[in-house]
Amino acid sequence: MDKIVVIGAGQAGASLVAKLRSLGHTGPITLIGEENAPPYQRPPLSKKYLLGEMELERLYLRPESFYAENAIELLTNDTAIAIDRTDKVVIAGGQQIAYDQLALCTGSVPRRLPGAIGGELGGVHVVRTLADVDTMAPEVREGARALIVGGGYIGLEAAAVAAKKGLHVTLVELEDRILKRVAARETADYIRAEHARHGVDIREGTGLDRLTGTPDVTGAILTDGTELPVDLVIAGIGITPATELAEMAGLETENGIKTDAQGRTSDPSIWAAGDCASFPYKGRRIRLESVQNAIDQAECVAENMLGAGKDYASVPWFWSDQYDLKLQIAGLHDGYDRVVTRPGADGAASFWYFNGNRFLAVDAMNDARAYMIGKRLLEMGKSPDPAVIVDSNVDLKPLLRA
Ligand code: ADP
Repeated sequence: MDKIVVIGAGQAGASLVAKLRSLGHTGPITLIGEENAPPYQRPPLSKKYLLGEMELERLYLRPESFYAENAIELLTNDTAIAIDRTDKVVIAGGQQIAYDQLALCTGSVPRRLPGAIGGELGGVHVVRTLADVDTMAPEVREGARALIVGGGYIGLEAAAVAAKKGLHVTLVELEDRILKRVAARETADYIRAEHARHGVDIREGTGLDRLTGTPDVTGAILTDGTELPVDLVIAGIGITPATELAEMAGLETENGIKTDAQGRTSDPSIWAAGDCASFPYKGRRIRLESVQNAIDQAECVAENMLGAGKDYASVPWFWSDQYDLKLQIAGLHDGYDRVVTRPGADGAASFWYFNGNRFLAVDAMNDARAYMIGKRLLEMGKSPDPAVIVDSNVDLKPLLRA
């Protein structure tokens, strides 16, 4: 029985080891994580957990006892520093851990504001780990003035939580609108309006020139010259895939650790899954930053480590919670040339992305039904008629009939 080692104890790593056991793998499994906690869910960290509405133990993906009960050796607080591919060992915490097959689930690292513009000052945060959120929590208090840098989903979710806690929130986005990388103008407009209703001051086409204060941040100078008093800063300016270990080991990378359709890297004994992996998808190479991808790709890799020979091909989906707005996304919108709006009940809406007549993706705003139908259509490879989508009097359910 192969000895399997997994580096990275986030969502992907945890899903992978659990799947190996549920598939009946009885050989040794070691999961190496550098954080000082068993694998936990990230999405609630900056929301329910930060708001004090969720206990630490409820963040854990599985109870701590799960790993020992399933003969999974979980090493926490332990950083893998090198992979010796010739001898097939991982160096971590001064030990040499031998493997027959290795999976890299190293995730991603948040980009930080450069030190030269004040990124090193006290009160400047990123949102990625439990430690990040525990550090910022005491500063996220009513009446404080928060500057959020970046209008992607991370920044917007942070803005929503801060506003809910009674902070005064300003968000700056360098591009001419929020969500430019990940969503259409229609979705950005809908979400911007939601933030405006909650008093968040969103400034688009505006970046951060520099932060001031010492040792803690007290102010910000924006690229348009505006000066703002600031008590804390949260940067949501994107992430970079954690490829360093793979690169040092001489594995191929390309915006992530390069894998084939089954998740195998350029070394046939080494696999990759989750945020760190770049994989072929419908004629191109992509990398996805989502919980769904971490789970589904890791489970697919687990199957392939045991010989399934299966291509990874699930329809991507994603969600974001801001205030009472539940945004659900299915599919990938890149390459769209038009967006069709379907009004829903009580202010809900969904935005359907097309390339010509080919349906690519849907963003649903408080419209679980539109999301569910859009996702099913993508799974079935069907493109609905845009004229049907825009007409909210027409039920979409019949489109799902074969
Ligand atoms: P995340 O997952 O962190 O939300 P995205 O890449 O989706 O990552 O969004 C990050 C956003 O931050 C982008 O819209 C980008 O234009 C914006 N951004 C990056 N650097 C800056 C900056 N210095 N000031 C303001 N906005 C920035």
